[in-house]
Amino acid sequence: MIAKSILITGCSRGIGLELVRQLVGSTNPPNVLLATCRNPEKATELQDLAKKHSILKIVQYDVTDYSSLPRLVEEVRSAVGAQGLTLLINNAGILEKCSSQMFGIPLEHLEIHVFKELLETNTTAPLFLIKALLPLLKEAAAAGGPVGVSRSCVINMSSILASMGAFTGNPDIYGYRASKAAINMITKALAEDFGKDGILFIAMHPGWVQTDMGTSAGMISAEESVRSMLQVLATMEESHNGLLVSYTGDVLPW
Ligand code: NDP
Repeated sequence: MIAKSILITGCSRGIGLELVRQLVGSTNPPNVLLATCRNPEKATELQDLAKKHSILKIVQYDVTDYSSLPRLVEEVRSAVGAQGLTLLINNAGILEKCSSQMFGIPLEHLEIHVFKELLETNTTAPLFLIKALLPLLKEAAAAGGPVGVSRSCVINMSSILASMGAFTGNPDIYGYRASKAAINMITKALAEDFGKDGILFIAMHPGWVQTDMGTSAGMISAEESVRSMLQVLATMEESHNGLLVSYTGDVLPW
């Protein structure tokens, strides 16, 4: 079992949906899998999975609606009980696009509200979800055992596009690059702050994946990305705390 209880954001499609699909179908699934999405009524593939797998609970949650955090925490609490939450995957994310190119917006066309929305969804929202769920993550960590995904862990979905040490691709993806670089720093700071409590924090690059965000030009399918990420996650230990890790298991430069 990768983890006793798991919460994943942004499960309506793409990598989030595939994470759910592979976790419920695994030979050793979690006891509880909370899959959040902002419009459950439109997430028909997720609903079909929930009908077949009783461990899967769909929770309505728009990651930028901070007023819903107390209700979300209550739902998680009632699903996981006193054992706490083992694994949080901050997966929901957005990327700026304009009609003339696959990714990014040239600076002359970038608008303030677009930049702010990227930071809101990709940086502020995951940080404040972690803050809200920290007591439950600490409860899971308190059970003891080796530091790892099966004890207590937060995965922040990041990107190689946020790496300054391995700068790649078009430069004009300002908002996405900045928002993911910020979540990388937050991941590092959380690892320093709460590593002592036995919680593991990792920023993860899932590869260039064929999803709505990655487009059909992506180098790998969501199935391949998630299969590899789940294998890599199971090997994460204390020495990985606060690192940016690729779906291949390689540690990437900040
Ligand atoms: P998709 O665009 O395919 O899916 C994005 C998911 O995030 C959807 O479920 C979407 O929900 C959800 N989402 C967006 N905004 C919100 C919000 N405010 N509240 C709740 N849910 C929201 O993206 P991917 O699956 O490709 O990406 C998943 C993660 O992986 C992202 O964090 C992304 O940055 C990262 N990543 C992806 C790469 C790729 O090549 N695909 C490469 C590197 C990183 P809805 O259906 O309601 O819009």
